[in-house]
Amino acid sequence: MTAIVDTELLSDLQRYGAADVSACFSCGSCTASCPLVSDDATFPRRIIRYAQVGLREQLLSSKELWTCYACGECSETCPTQAEPSEFMAAARRYAIGHYDRTGLARMMYTRPVLGTVLALALAVFFALFMYSARGPQSEASLDIFTFIPEALIHDTGIAVMIIVFAAGLLGVATMVRAVGRAEGLTLGTVVGSWSALKLSARALWLALGVETLGQRRYRRDCDADAEVKPWYLRRWFFHAATMWGFLGLLLATILDYGLALLGIKETGTPVPIWYPVRLLGTVAGILLVYGATMLIVQRYRGQERSVRHSSAADWILLVLIWVTGVTGFALEAALYLPSAPAWGYWVFLFHVAVAMELILLAPFMKLAHAVYRPLALSIQALGSSSLRPSGDRSSGEA
Ligand code: SF4
Ligand code: SF4
Repeated sequence: MTAIVDTELLSDLQRYGAADVSACFSCGSCTASCPLVSDDATFPRRIIRYAQVGLREQLLSSKELWTCYACGECSETCPTQAEPSEFMAAARRYAIGHYDRTGLARMMYTRPVLGTVLALALAVFFALFMYSARGPQSEASLDIFTFIPEALIHDTGIAVMIIVFAAGLLGVATMVRAVGRAEGLTLGTVVGSWSALKLSARALWLALGVETLGQRRYRRDCDADAEVKPWYLRRWFFHAATMWGFLGLLLATILDYGLALLGIKETGTPVPIWYPVRLLGTVAGILLVYGATMLIVQRYRGQERSVRHSSAADWILLVLIWVTGVTGFALEAALYLPSAPAWGYWVFLFHVAVAMELILLAPFMKLAHAVYRPLALSIQALGSSSLRPSGDRSSGEA
């Protein structure tokens, strides 16, 4: 990779919330204390060094941005208060802003007032758009799809997904090309032969199944509270509950739609609480609201290093997730009440508007890490000497 020096890199990173790392004298204490450092991934000192000397492309192509779990351990050991953990979080925001080709992510992170106004405007837009097609409110039962036509929600959802997919795909392609090249991966080494395919499948399983869904290293190596708090009060579980809840609700929505397509159950038809898809949605909703609530409380208290600095976009994302979950529960409660409460219709309208906004903004906020991290972990696993037969990669300098 040609080394192009960007003299603005450090100040640009500070616009994304990075601490002033000019005090860092490369002692390496942070790297020595990081529980996730391995021969295949050395950070945060190297990433800070990239920023100090203006190696923008090297920084953006570092898989380590995504393999860091923001535990804050490195900041505890830094002798100069350079806040390496905070720097890594800001570098991830910077990377999301640069992988995204629309400029929206950059705006969300660097112009907090404009980002907040946009978030509010989007919620109002979706609510008014749905409201403009409203039908009558039945008083006998909560007939939500007579109030807001199901076809409108479906078509709007498809339009939102197309935008998200197109924007997300561009970001993913940029990220994978940069990180994959830096790690020496080519199409041939990933899918070029039967053994390469087997290796790729194994790497994907490690990244997606073991590390992302199972949170193995987060739980095992990156949990400073392991000795002092029960599992349900630990940071890894807040993160996992939010992710599992989000995925569970997505699955419940897809299954519900699938049942309607198969003619088994119309969407919105009242079902008992123990109906499998409803039960899945309820359990997933509980996990989502619990996880998001605890993450908000933790961020609000700001006692832990990992959450001491928050961008407006971090708050917007958590609030959107929380509001989507809570309004989902309020709607469920309204559906099971014997008479149709009028507020149920408004909760439904608000729930749909916020959920649409959450999905639409996903590639432009922290939620993008839900895709970038597994990809980086896959690339790391693919390049790992434990998976590769010939260990032909040189590891990075610490
Ligand atoms: S925040 Fe934690 S995982 Fe990230 S670099 Fe620091 S010690 Fe490592
Ligand atoms: S511990 Fe602090 S001073 Fe030392 S390399 Fe890390 S960030 Fe720099």
